[in-house]
Amino acid sequence: MPVTVDLIEAPLMDSFRRSITYLRISVTDKCNLRCVYCMPEAGLTWLHRDELLTYEEIARIVEAGARMGIRSVRITGGEPLVRRDLSRLVALLAAIPGIDDIALSTNGLLLAAQAAELKASGLRRVNISLDTLRSDRFEAIARRPGLDAVLAGIDAAIEADLAPVKINCVVMRGRNDDEIGDFAQLTRTKDLYVRFIEMMPVHENVEQQAAEYLSADDILARVRLHGAVVPVTPSHGNGPARYVGFEGARGAVGVISPLSHDYCERCNRVRLSADGRLKLCLFGDQHVDLRTPLRNGASLEQLGTILHDAMFIKPERHHLRLGETSSRMRAFSEIGG
Ligand code: SAM
Ligand code: SF4
Repeated sequence: MPVTVDLIEAPLMDSFRRSITYLRISVTDKCNLRCVYCMPEAGLTWLHRDELLTYEEIARIVEAGARMGIRSVRITGGEPLVRRDLSRLVALLAAIPGIDDIALSTNGLLLAAQAAELKASGLRRVNISLDTLRSDRFEAIARRPGLDAVLAGIDAAIEADLAPVKINCVVMRGRNDDEIGDFAQLTRTKDLYVRFIEMMPVHENVEQQAAEYLSADDILARVRLHGAVVPVTPSHGNGPARYVGFEGARGAVGVISPLSHDYCERCNRVRLSADGRLKLCLFGDQHVDLRTPLRNGASLEQLGTILHDAMFIKPERHHLRLGETSSRMRAFSEIGG
């Protein structure tokens, strides 16, 4: 069926009548850490510079998306802050009509020096990954040192009002699950949302994942050992996390449970990989190349048509299950976790 201009301007909706309003943008596949659950120690086969979308190219895709209802974007990677002058991209995105929320996911290593400038450029909020509060463990999990720099990054984010500042902690049985209480306690006195994430099987971590996986329900039970909690509805967004809070706490504790309670039914997101593929599901292969038409001079309307048509291949749900090995899986870092 030919797509009319009216349709192009219609909001993005997939075959399962889910409105797509959220775009995650990976700006690089590179990273300055090598977290054991995410990236091989030797790194990946990195993209060549000319394979990466430029900031202007990313902004053009976002502009096309914004005309079709994309309202929130999240910048991620790899590690987005290793890409030079990220605040320039933030400023380009902030100037696009319709984009009203720009967030960043980062490991925090380089955040302290950039938080204020990112905020001034239009960044609204930040998620910082941190799996341990102990420096020797940090080095064992991330395979690089850096805990102090990440803690300084968290303080700088709070200082710069990149709020609500969220900490993402992947829980691994036997590696950091004894710190669930310490992380949860942070929310009593700091304006932080601590979110515990179930470890997903990706890339080469399948055996580790099967051995160290802890479900969100088990994690919440461990949190409750540190005090009574009540369900909390966050003031921001309707993302994948479920939140609880200790009485009188400044922050809240969340769990993200892609395996035990997936949130596919209310998925509102698609992803743009660093090399310009629109990925329809984090855990599937379905994608559409946007870089080629973009570099061949596609108009905003033509890009909009491609986005519109891509919605038809968004799958209903992911099919990952605990212990499942999938040769289709790629590391989060390649696909812009
Ligand atoms: N480098 C940035 C960071 O670490 O926040 C952004 C990219 S990272 C791939 C995005 C998120 O994916 C992080 O919170 C990370 O902990 C999470 N992640 C990566 N691999 C994962 C896995 N196997 N299971 C669960 N979460 C994972
Ligand atoms: Fe890098 Fe983030 Fe993956 Fe850790 S989780 S290796 S910081 S991309």
